[in-house]
Amino acid sequence: MFSFSTARYRLAPQLANILAAWGRRAGLAWCLPLLLALAGPARAAALPEDTLVASPARPAQYLNDRFYSVLEDPSGRLPLSQVSSPAYAGRFATLAGTGLPPNIQHPRSTYWLRFTLRAAPGPATDWYLELYDSHIGAATLYRPTGLTCPAGLAYDSVLTGANYPFATRPLPYKNFLFDLPLRQGQPGTYYLRLRSDTPTSFRAMLHSGPGLLPEMSLQYWLLGGFYGVVFLMLVYNLFLFFFLKEKSYLYYVLYVLAGALLFLSEDGLGFQYLWPGSALLNHFIGVAAPVLLLLAFAQYARSFLDMAARLPRLDRAIRWVVALSGALLVLDAAVINSGFSFWLYLFPYGLLYYAAWRAYRGGLPSARYLLLAQALVAGSLAFLISRKLGLEFYNNAYTVYSLNVAFVVEVAVLSYALADKVKALMDTTLLTQRRLLKQLRKKQQAQNQLVIQLRENQLLKDQLNTELEALVARRTDELRQQNDTIATQNRELLETNSLLALQSAAIEQLNRDLSRDLQDQKEARLQAREFDFGEFSQLYPDKDACLRYLADLKWANGYHCRKCGHEKSCEAREPFARRCTRCRYVESATTGTLLQKCKFPIVKALYAVFLLHAHRGRYAPAELARVLELRPATSWAFAQKVLAALERRRQAPDYEEGEAWTFVLLDDAANADLETALETA
Ligand SMILES: [Zn+2]
Repeated sequence: MFSFSTARYRLAPQLANILAAWGRRAGLAWCLPLLLALAGPARAAALPEDTLVASPARPAQYLNDRFYSVLEDPSGRLPLSQVSSPAYAGRFATLAGTGLPPNIQHPRSTYWLRFTLRAAPGPATDWYLELYDSHIGAATLYRPTGLTCPAGLAYDSVLTGANYPFATRPLPYKNFLFDLPLRQGQPGTYYLRLRSDTPTSFRAMLHSGPGLLPEMSLQYWLLGGFYGVVFLMLVYNLFLFFFLKEKSYLYYVLYVLAGALLFLSEDGLGFQYLWPGSALLNHFIGVAAPVLLLLAFAQYARSFLDMAARLPRLDRAIRWVVALSGALLVLDAAVINSGFSFWLYLFPYGLLYYAAWRAYRGGLPSARYLLLAQALVAGSLAFLISRKLGLEFYNNAYTVYSLNVAFVVEVAVLSYALADKVKALMDTTLLTQRRLLKQLRKKQQAQNQLVIQLRENQLLKDQLNTELEALVARRTDELRQQNDTIATQNRELLETNSLLALQSAAIEQLNRDLSRDLQDQKEARLQAREFDFGEFSQLYPDKDACLRYLADLKWANGYHCRKCGHEKSCEAREPFARRCTRCRYVESATTGTLLQKCKFPIVKALYAVFLLHAHRGRYAPAELARVLELRPATSWAFAQKVLAALERRRQAPDYEEGEAWTFVLLDDAANADLETALETA
């Protein structure tokens, strides 16, 4: 570890340099005179500067305001010859006791610094002048050569500044460094001409050559350590972001990056090592870094504090304030250069601090780390501001590089805060997960049980189904067999039926044939006149049969009324008689036949006609009476009637030999004759 006590003088100006830059950029230059005015009344500047004695006993001396005087040249055109002339000597004035800040107050003016240096007696060494403000645009050091010229003392000059590439520097160091050739015992007056677009600081340090090297190495070593820590935190948290995908880490990395850029820009290391070729880029980074720092910190704090969810109204306000401040800062830096921008930082940072406090009170324990980190930086800034105000803390070793230390601690604390928050989050998540896991396990068990039951049910169902299927199959089989049997039986029945039908048809046919044969036979015999009365009375057994025969014979071609010729009739009271439906004339079956008005049984009469017709009238009357069991007279009379009819038929033009007896039977004339005879008689 390095010792602050040995480094305090050498390192403190670096810190003051950074603060000066911040103050300059933030408008601190504007507010400081006000504060100083409150601290005490300003005294008039009249005394000339003291001569600075360069002694090896004090290898590093701060060029405080007693040792130089200032001339402001608003035109910026005064040459050295004029400035160093006795006429202008009285215009230089020291700042000591005036309360004025040791920096460029009007960026359009050129400032001349005059200081006198004398080497202490002793061995000669090299001396160097270091300017701390890395933002001085152009600095020209006029050094007395010890020679004289017609205009007076001769001077040589060295030009450097932030407006020129790093390679043009007389000595390759992060700050502006001039070597001062001193002549033993003789004081020399030096002029430093400064020009800058921003209110840069006059702070400077006198270094002895032997003391400068360890001083420089210590500074680089310390800064190297500082950037090393910052870089490690940056990379570490970037990895954390990649692993955890927690956005706060990304904003944290951006914040650290912006902070590192600001420090690199302020201490000149960035210009020396990272962007040495471009003075413009150097200037741009110097302007942009604080704005970036504000934006990144605001994002980080918003994300870290979960402000959108916890403090939505304040979050909205902060977003507006930060955006507006950022825009105004950019506008101010690019166009206006008002010097009021300090307040533009103060307000958003203050709001963010308030938000952290609200979040802490609202139940976010990790917010206390944010409060702590911000308090650290604020405290460190307060030290620097107080020094800026003229309260000299130079001898306090702990203010040395306090801003760097504060930043490193802040970075560490913020990282720890993130880890703490993420751990709390993970703890909650783990707890929730464990609870969820328990629930899931329970659910799983219930499901398993359900699955087992379902499986059992399925098994039962399957078994039942199998049994049912077997049963159904068996039943189906049986039914099919029965069906087959029934079908077979049906087929057999059908076959039997058709056979029976055929047989019955055959039998019917046979019967029909038989009865026809019988009838034919009988009729044939009738025709053949071979009947005796016994047989004949089998054919026409009674009166009814005879009457039916006669009626059928008579009306074979339809009814025809004998009186009116009407052709429709109905049954009459007498068997087989017809009654005309029109004239009501009743015609018996015998009317109009040979048997009309016959006085003996009609069967005998019919047989008598048959016999006489069959024997062509040549039948003995006695024989007839005997056959018919009639009295001879009755028989004879009827025979006469039949014979007459036979004779008439034989005479008829359509008579055929051997024709049926029906023609004779239906002979009507006999009756007419008889009736006529009876009527006449
Ligand atoms: Zn009639």
